Amino acid sequence: MSLGDRLPLTEEQKMLRDMVRDFAQNKIKPIAAEIDETERFPEEIFAEMGELGLMGIPYPEEYGGAGMDYTSYALAVEEVAKVCGSTALGLAAHISLGCGPIYLFGSEAQKKKYLPDLCAGKHMGGFGLTEPQAGSDAGATKTTCMDMGDHYLLNGTKVYCTNGSYSKTYVVSALTEKGKGTRGISCFIVERDWDGFAVGKKERKLGVRGSDTVVLHFNDVKVPKENLLGKPGEGFKQMLITLDGGRISIGAMALGLAEGAYLETLKYVTGRKAFDQRIADFQATQFKIADMLVNIEAARHMIFDAARKKDDGEDFSQEAAMAKLFASEVGAKVTSQAIQLHGGYGYVREYPVERMFRDNKLTEIGEGTSEIQRLVIARGILKEWDKVGA
Ligand SMILES: Cc1cc2nc3c(=O)[nH]c(=O)nc-3n(C[C@H](O)[C@H](O)[C@H](O)COP(=O)(O)OP(=O)(O)OC[C@H]3O[C@@H](n4cnc5c(N)ncnc54)[C@H](O)[C@@H]3O)c2cc1C
Repeated sequence: MSLGDRLPLTEEQKMLRDMVRDFAQNKIKPIAAEIDETERFPEEIFAEMGELGLMGIPYPEEYGGAGMDYTSYALAVEEVAKVCGSTALGLAAHISLGCGPIYLFGSEAQKKKYLPDLCAGKHMGGFGLTEPQAGSDAGATKTTCMDMGDHYLLNGTKVYCTNGSYSKTYVVSALTEKGKGTRGISCFIVERDWDGFAVGKKERKLGVRGSDTVVLHFNDVKVPKENLLGKPGEGFKQMLITLDGGRISIGAMALGLAEGAYLETLKYVTGRKAFDQRIADFQATQFKIADMLVNIEAARHMIFDAARKKDDGEDFSQEAAMAKLFASEVGAKVTSQAIQLHGGYGYVREYPVERMFRDNKLTEIGEGTSEIQRLVIARGILKEWDKVGA
């Protein structure tokens, strides 16, 4: 039995998983160390993923998507992350954040205009929520988009935009009405070519170094009225709903990284000898690999339970936060143990486990830090308690 086979998948989901596994092992794995080392965004890989129908997996075919479910999308992110965290993050941010809000909250005209190119992988989609002074506290946004009668005027700065240099469209949150708190925030689809918009500094990072992370500048950008997403004042809620779905994919990324590190470790401990026996034959090693697998399988079940709930139209916000929190911490534990079991070789760049360890750290920060996940989970617990009682 191989990893992942413990899930009850449909034939279609299995086929998708196997296709992505094949692509990841043959096309992404060979370049994973190079894109990390050179901090290069692998444009050619995303173009190929577009041709394979992977850039719009969970969106309907009428908008250029593959018409599959969220479970299939999470499986794809997991398979890619097994070999490359950078590419997995690019894929997850594009699908959940770059396309997600347009699909979930866009008008029919907006969906028809923007989604087909995004789903075909002709360009990436960007998401601008975080600002220099507004990360976890996203409601503290300072970017403004004022109603000027026949258009809106966008001013401000967004930071850490994943895929930003390679995007042509960005979903951006901004204040449209001051003094109304989070009810004064709206979201807009912004195009790269518009006057006053500029992609700024590219961040140099600890991990996911082949993923593109940039600052976005908006200086008197004229936004057409028809590019407002939904209604004025709905933006904050839209962003939170978007992040609920995104958390499943970041959890799947952490799961994939943990599995990748686990598989590399199995290969290593069964090949390396010390004191005249395989490292795998020491009980201390066996306890570690047993714990690794137990944690991986627990994370898998939480992630795919959240994905199934989303696919079935159930409330999944609490499950997504729990799955992301747990999987990202499993990723941290498993990749760290993987380095330990490789000894000195685990600490140097010749082996992929140190890259996986660095890449995983992002999963404890992006789309809500672990502390924010705990807040979301605790709020859910208390809301339920207050409703149902003892
Ligand atoms: C590689 C990368 C890619 C990213 N991609 C995107 C993207 O595409 N689009 C986008 O909009 N953003 C993106 N982000 C931003 C990311 O979502 C934020 O970094 C994250 O939400 C945390 O915000 P912050 O960095 O401002 O940290 P802060 O909010 O300043 O947090 C600092 C610390 O304080 C803690 N903290 C804050 N508030 C509380 C609280 N109430 N209770 C307890 N602890 C608290 C945090 O958990 C953290 O430990 C990306 C970030 C990275 C690193």
